[in-house]
Amino acid sequence: MAPENHITETAAAGSANFLRNIIQDDLASGKHASIVTRFPPEPNGYLHIGHAKSICLNFGLARDFGGECHLRLDDTNPAREDQEYIDSIKGSVRWLGFDWGEHLHHASDYFPQLYQWAEELVGKGVAYVDDLTAEEMRAYRGTLTEAGKESPYRNRSVEENLELFRRMRAGDFPDGSRVLRAKIDMASPNMNLRDPVMYRIVHEPHPHTGDAWCIYPMYDYAHGQSDSIEGITHSICTLEFEDHRPLYDWFLDQLCVYHPRQYEFARLNLTYTVMSKRKLLQLVRDGDVTGWDDPRMPTLDGLRRRGYTPDSIRAFCEQIGVGRNGSWIEMSVLEECVRSDLNVAAPRAMAVLRPLRLIVENYPEELAEEFSAANHPQRPELGVRSIPFCRELYMERDDFMEVPVKGFKRLAPGSEVRLRYAFIIRCTGVEKDESGVVTAVRCSYDRETLTGGPAADRKVKGVIHWVSARHGIQADVRLYDRLITVSNPSGDDWKSLLNPDSTEFLTGAVMEPSLAAARPEERFQFERQGYFCVDGKDSLPGKPVFNRTVTLRDSWAK
Ligand code: ATP
Ligand code: MG
Repeated sequence: MAPENHITETAAAGSANFLRNIIQDDLASGKHASIVTRFPPEPNGYLHIGHAKSICLNFGLARDFGGECHLRLDDTNPAREDQEYIDSIKGSVRWLGFDWGEHLHHASDYFPQLYQWAEELVGKGVAYVDDLTAEEMRAYRGTLTEAGKESPYRNRSVEENLELFRRMRAGDFPDGSRVLRAKIDMASPNMNLRDPVMYRIVHEPHPHTGDAWCIYPMYDYAHGQSDSIEGITHSICTLEFEDHRPLYDWFLDQLCVYHPRQYEFARLNLTYTVMSKRKLLQLVRDGDVTGWDDPRMPTLDGLRRRGYTPDSIRAFCEQIGVGRNGSWIEMSVLEECVRSDLNVAAPRAMAVLRPLRLIVENYPEELAEEFSAANHPQRPELGVRSIPFCRELYMERDDFMEVPVKGFKRLAPGSEVRLRYAFIIRCTGVEKDESGVVTAVRCSYDRETLTGGPAADRKVKGVIHWVSARHGIQADVRLYDRLITVSNPSGDDWKSLLNPDSTEFLTGAVMEPSLAAARPEERFQFERQGYFCVDGKDSLPGKPVFNRTVTLRDSWAK
């Protein structure tokens, strides 16, 4: 596999955003000598394009300001987390072109310190063990308009709390029987401050710490303290955590430890897909897709299999920018990013996806010749390849109409087209089966019209691609379309909005022979068809399977 981790110059320059301004000020004022950011995924699913926004932001800021960015696996919930997810997360961040260096961390690395701090808060009288059931706790919590009620266990003595908390840790109690809560304010207008849970009991082995623990810290308690331990300067998260910031600050203030600052930005929403890991997991579990890396998935592994380049995804993240207003980004913006990247990067090739036999009547049966074609029209350094031609070819079924509609510029009885890199042909007739379906098109060719020949300049309305029937290779092609039929899926019935036609598998495609050597993840522009990528999973040596990354033009635009 080719290394794909060079960062483009535009990305390195870094476009302006409010976080950049904050960091610039902090460096200028001497508040920080250098910056430390982090990307903190929970390993309960694969990363998606929304995470890419956060990765590009956090790693990009560290790169541009000469700081460091940590990859922190936020592994505080063993019931949902898995080694498979950890591996895919690391692979995706690397694939995107970012490097955490020495700084791969796990929230679970800090369990001993977090526990000690929790005991400290109990000792200060600002944390207590609560025996209410989950249901009771919910009822006591109140609502946005109504203050909560204090738990009857809220005023336990420090000694009793310490003893109970230690016994929770020792495994004396079953799951769900008790929790440790922060003692803040049950009447706070901010629900997050109504005595939030800090620890819960979960008797479940952990992918990283095994069975060392049976109590696990909640996100809100683990996160800020992990930031503090790692010396994070700017803790950047998405806007739904804005209301958690007072709690983030409260814990750090109570503990009197180094206090990073939390900043929020708007999460990415992309049209015609779903993004939350919960929904993506549901698609995988229900078999609506073949896995997390299904080429229709908005996961980074899915996009990679589909043929997206890391460059195109970074360019996308750069283009959409970082702000504080939530918004939906059109899928076509992402598609345009990969199109413009592959337009430059991908060599050209000819592939006939839905073949129709084309017989060149006046071309000698035993003859075969080779024509030279540039691999890229604007990049001579990519070289040329030779394309075999003979009497029997394949053309695209769509490029022929027996009764052409008005304005049809391709082949029809009596009309002429140019065969790309070869001759002008004239259609002389068709062959049909008993049900009247055209099974072959017959034509004659004019040798003078070959490139460099005396009639090379003769104008015809259309140019079509083709493949030699004798030399072409057969390959499977998978056409993908959008996962969801509506642009802004929301609500609980999103599964009813799945696009039933999001895949079309073609088994009879024929391609120029050079493509037999295509390697996994290699990308091509099939002339007139779109960009295609060799499937990294299902291809065999000499037998590539091609996934359509994107069509040449936005077929969804009105
Ligand atoms: P999801 O809601 O998709 O399940 P999450 O927020 O639970 O995602 P985490 O693993 O907690 O996923 O996210 C890791 C980081 O990625 C967080 O800092 C989070 O803010 C960020 N992130 C997640 N989704 C998006 C998104 N759509 N746009 C931008 N950043 C995101
Ligand atoms: Mg989360």
